[in-house]
Amino acid sequence: MLRLPVLATRDDLSGRPPPRPVGLDPFAWGALVDPDGRRYEYLRLSVTDRCDLACVYCMPPGGEQHHALRRELLDFDEAARLVSVFASLGIRRVRLTGGEPLVRRDVVRLVELLTRRSGLRDVVMTTNGTRLAELALPLRRAGLTGVNVSLDSLDPDRFRRITRGGELARVLAGLHAAVDAGFEVRINVVALGGQNEDEWGRLVDFAWDLGATPRFIELMPLGEASRLPATWFVPAARVVEVLGSRLLREVPGRYDPGRGPARYLEAADGSGRRVGFITAVTDTFCDRCNRVRVTARGELRPCLASARAVDLRNVMRTGGSDADVAWAVRWALGAKDRGHGFLDPARHEHVEVGMSLVGG
Ligand code: SAM
Ligand code: SF4
Repeated sequence: MLRLPVLATRDDLSGRPPPRPVGLDPFAWGALVDPDGRRYEYLRLSVTDRCDLACVYCMPPGGEQHHALRRELLDFDEAARLVSVFASLGIRRVRLTGGEPLVRRDVVRLVELLTRRSGLRDVVMTTNGTRLAELALPLRRAGLTGVNVSLDSLDPDRFRRITRGGELARVLAGLHAAVDAGFEVRINVVALGGQNEDEWGRLVDFAWDLGATPRFIELMPLGEASRLPATWFVPAARVVEVLGSRLLREVPGRYDPGRGPARYLEAADGSGRRVGFITAVTDTFCDRCNRVRVTARGELRPCLASARAVDLRNVMRTGGSDADVAWAVRWALGAKDRGHGFLDPARHEHVEVGMSLVGG
């Protein structure tokens, strides 16, 4: 497998890539692989940095201060073009995220355009679910194949507190609409010490009854979450302990590189149902990382925890060809860190990273 002939350094990742060397065809190099041998097959594309909720671990009160202006966002053609370039580089799955992807105007049309132009069969979304009741079926018809819905509590008051104003009933209606529309549904629960641990079992049962797969995510110390009391963080091992009798053993083939970093444990009742765990802090999967992130402004972030980015939107808006965009992608991945460094006191970059701005 060919490696990059010219590597970016971390310091280079502050905007613009160098021009593509004359005659160099970045599409001719095979899979998207970084200097550590990690192969990229999964793109997370943020379609907006706005949100109709403001979860306490994600958004500052009142929302982020610096939302992109409309002209700063990738327009639909640019987004579809980028996804097609990534597909030509070997990306097989795209997850649309945000902010809240369903607050982007005409998001159904965007999904249709992306799936049609890229030819990808695996285009999924992470959403807070508040608008799914109306949009699930149109999204399914537009070619979306799966949804992850975030749900940290089944108690309306607690849900409202965690999301700063969210209405649980709307999310529940959205979840049912997603199942009825035929989506594969996963429910993302952030494990929050002292906030929702008494509901973990109930959330699992709720998801299973719905035919969905629950997944528990360790709270990552990014942006707002880095300012929460340490007691809010709970290791996934503790969630496994609490769920105890519901779970049996780890599903063999622990990591599926095409689908993401979750480990799955099987239900003890032999039903084949599963619970996922995303151990982003206690058992990092950085050495197997297979994902690249593009923000709503079109910046490629090689790592979620990195404040550095390369501006792909500018490459497109200054007349760059698809090969120039692909070159910028390969070049930027040359400077990807080996790991996120959440627990490294010498690295503070991640506390500046707003999850809703980067695209969680
Ligand atoms: N608004 C959508 C939603 O909430 O699903 C998509 C964007 S949100 C940033 C994506 C996921 O990141 C959600 O499941 C959310 O709970 C999770 N998240 C946000 N901040 C987090 C943090 N600091 N640690 C772990 N997960 C976080
Ligand atoms: Fe919005 Fe999702 Fe962040 Fe909550 S986690 S504030 S729903 S972007």
